[in-house]
Amino acid sequence: MSIKGKTAVVTGSNSGIGLGIVEELAKAGVNVVLNSFTDRDEDHALAEKIGKEHGVTARYIKADLSKGEEARALVEQAGTCDILVNNAGIQHVAPIDEFPVDKWNAIIAINMNSAFHTTAVALPMMRKAGWGRVVNIASAHGLTASPYKSAYVSAKHGVVGMTKVVALETAQEPITANAICPGYVLTPLVEAQIPDTMKEYNMSREDVIKKVMLERQPSKEFATVEQLGGVVVFLCSPAADQITGTTISVDGGWTAL
Ligand code: NAD
Repeated sequence: MSIKGKTAVVTGSNSGIGLGIVEELAKAGVNVVLNSFTDRDEDHALAEKIGKEHGVTARYIKADLSKGEEARALVEQAGTCDILVNNAGIQHVAPIDEFPVDKWNAIIAINMNSAFHTTAVALPMMRKAGWGRVVNIASAHGLTASPYKSAYVSAKHGVVGMTKVVALETAQEPITANAICPGYVLTPLVEAQIPDTMKEYNMSREDVIKKVMLERQPSKEFATVEQLGGVVVFLCSPAADQITGTTISVDGGWTAL
């Protein structure tokens, strides 16, 4: 079965991995709903450009996913959601005893709670349509930990757990739920971590990339947004019909260490 003509909602998709996923899905003929918390002309123009380029319907819907009701409204406004990609995420790096409470709450809300809200609204739509895919963009930090990332690691482990529950609750239906666990991908989220890590370790930018980030990635290469989009497309293919409740690492060998 082709996924051409299906509709995907990809959270946090005006940048980075989410945008890469939208591009690969649109290339495969999937209608796409892009999202972020901003409502700028350029957000809508981005959706229009992708729609034109790939001959699909592409819309941008603003929703601040730190708020549960906006996460739910995003899927409700999309109207159809055959493929739900929970991708939106933020990061903050600090020792746990100095970790700002507002940052902790925002990371848990955006990186984990929003996936609960969107999934809760999307599942009845998938059941009605008789087919569905939930793909959660977790992280290598959903399977392992690093210092100074308590909120992020907690949220990503939570997302991996939630993925397993959704898979079990839909196991006898034509719906699957999986988590993709990327290692480092050079996106704006990772760029933003470089200055803090430079300070933390008193290192140059090049050393942070090589000795801190890619130190744990045995391939010594960043994963790309195109590769992650490709994995999402694969999880939507018939070959993946029996893949559910699991994680797929795209981390250059990080979690094999
Ligand atoms: P990014 O900063 O480029 O993109 C994050 C997206 O989330 C953006 O579109 C942003 O606008 C959106 N977003 C942030 N706050 C939001 C909010 N309150 N409401 C709605 N949207 C919001 O980062 P990225 O690297 O592309 O990260 C995407 C996902 O991949 C995240 O969940 C991240 O944890 C995960 N991830 C990234 C890497 C990496 O190395 N880049 C590795 C593993 C996992």
